[in-house]
Amino acid sequence: MTQPIFMVGARGCGKTTVGGELARALGYAFVDTDIFMQQSSGLTVADVVAAEGWPGFRLRESAALQAVTQPNQIVATGGGMVLLAQNRQFMRDKGIVIYLHAPAHALARRLEASPQAHQRPTLTGRPIAEEMEAVLAEREALYQGVAHHVVDATRSPDSIVCELLQTLRLPAA
Ligand code: ADP
Ligand code: MG
Repeated sequence: MTQPIFMVGARGCGKTTVGGELARALGYAFVDTDIFMQQSSGLTVADVVAAEGWPGFRLRESAALQAVTQPNQIVATGGGMVLLAQNRQFMRDKGIVIYLHAPAHALARRLEASPQAHQRPTLTGRPIAEEMEAVLAEREALYQGVAHHVVDATRSPDSIVCELLQTLRLPAA
């Protein structure tokens, strides 16, 4: 029985990509809270935000985090999961928290390259690079504070997974 692993960081840092690869390497299950919420409610992020606002979305996100958490599970969290103190406490208590750290310009470049995969309402209405600067200014300390381990997310997914296998001292599947 092994603790769940939570991937945190801003949109585009690689939580889904690296989390999925890490799950394969460890033989863990993988779940993405955004996708779990969409599948369990039948509503997109945009639907929920339009109907209930961001506070409603955050409440659903907390419930999703608790619902998906179990041993031998990698959980890719939504970028704003760290905004609520109860979520930060929950993740630190229940598992191992990994922050995929990357500068705003790197995140913006990735999101511009695959906009269709990242459709959701912008938080600020500003250009994506500026938005990512603003998001990190607000959240960097929260990501750093909740993380048990911080990794450089600008490296390749393979090399990040290798580093994590060593850091976490977990046997590859
Ligand atoms: P998140 O789930 O954190 O929003 P994704 O895993 O969806 O991020 O990745 C966002 C985009 O960046 C995708 O197009 C993905 O292929 C790319 N990407 C993710 N991690 C890396 C990486 N380490 N190096 C290069 N590109 C990456
Ligand atoms: Mg994702």
